[in-house]
Amino acid sequence: MTDKWNTRTKLVHEGSRRSQYGEMAEAIYLTQGFVYPTAESAEERFIKAGDDEFIYARYGNPTTRMFEERIAALEGTEDAFATASGMAAVNGALTSMLRAGDHVVSSRALFGSCLYILEEVLTRFGVHVTFVDGADLDQWRAAVTPGTKAVFFESMSNPTLELVDITEVAKIAHAVGALVIVDNVFATPIFSRAVEQGADVVVYSTTKHIDGQGRALGGVVCGTKEFIRKTVETYMKHTGGSMSPFTAWIMLNGMATLDLRCRAMADSALTIAKALESDARVSKVIFPGLASHPQHALAMAQMGSGGTIVTFDIKGGKEAAFKFMNALEIIKISNNLGDAKSIATHPATTTHQRLPQPQKDALGITPGLIRLSVGLEDAGDLIADLQAALSAI
Ligand SMILES: *Cc1c(COP(=O)(O)O)cnc(C)c1O
Repeated sequence: MTDKWNTRTKLVHEGSRRSQYGEMAEAIYLTQGFVYPTAESAEERFIKAGDDEFIYARYGNPTTRMFEERIAALEGTEDAFATASGMAAVNGALTSMLRAGDHVVSSRALFGSCLYILEEVLTRFGVHVTFVDGADLDQWRAAVTPGTKAVFFESMSNPTLELVDITEVAKIAHAVGALVIVDNVFATPIFSRAVEQGADVVVYSTTKHIDGQGRALGGVVCGTKEFIRKTVETYMKHTGGSMSPFTAWIMLNGMATLDLRCRAMADSALTIAKALESDARVSKVIFPGLASHPQHALAMAQMGSGGTIVTFDIKGGKEAAFKFMNALEIIKISNNLGDAKSIATHPATTTHQRLPQPQKDALGITPGLIRLSVGLEDAGDLIADLQAALSAI
């Protein structure tokens, strides 16, 4: 890893490995295995593989390794392990380090599948999980015990964009010796400073901003060499959740433009949030980049940006929200985020449909709520699209 390079240089060059042909673009090593020159060298490699030696694609692959080194350099961790999806990364980070009897504290406002892992999978194997309101530091303080092995949270929650104070929660967790595992998807790797702020392990769904063009599922766990290679890799290579070389190649190419894309999306998101805030047809705009967001100061300190997602509540509930969505022309109805294409989601009837009503109420998922993932289109065109659709209600 070269510390002298700044972010944009790292995103283009970090981790590149060239074969004897000196190819310019990152090569896709679409191979499950590797040929050993002799039986002796195979034996040696199984005892200890060198940095440029691979055994089987489930364990590692040159293209996947390029992606892991690039994201680790960006995140500021010693190492990273690439996984088949964001959920494989979340499951791998948690399951690889926990055993029956361990205690985990997690914020309650989680992506549905993360909630399933914590609430259903881990507890089935004897891990005790306590859920807290992630923004309430007193609840974190009250929940941790000397038996707490990990704390888990999404640094910015979906879809209501509530932040967890990484620095403060890390202090609370480290006081009892617990590992801080952060799902940092909404913050993006560009605006993240999670490691500086005390996170031990940072997890991404690379399906989102890192691919950025809605092509492939992927995930990554970033952490110390010891945690990534001894704990996560050992678990992942035996349970089958590794990233494919083809996906790693897509993610590597996504990273070259990641900084440019995230910054352009975040600029447009702020412009759009301001326009929506002054629109009488919208009852509430949630965007951490606006002074009206209750955690605006924390967002600026923690991310230096409001991010790329704007959530807003349309007057008139579900009926108005559906009319609005159906009238959108540029913005697509879907449920990905971080894509070049702007995407509108109605959380109450899709991503959060299964939550019981009291939980929807507690999380602020109202019938008129729209989550907008701001893409790379012209911000003026997007505002015109939003305004025309609001008029169609
Ligand atoms: C999308 C997402 C995931 C899951 O990632 P996949 O790549 O879809 O498996 C996990 N956490 C958060 C916050 C997400 O947005």
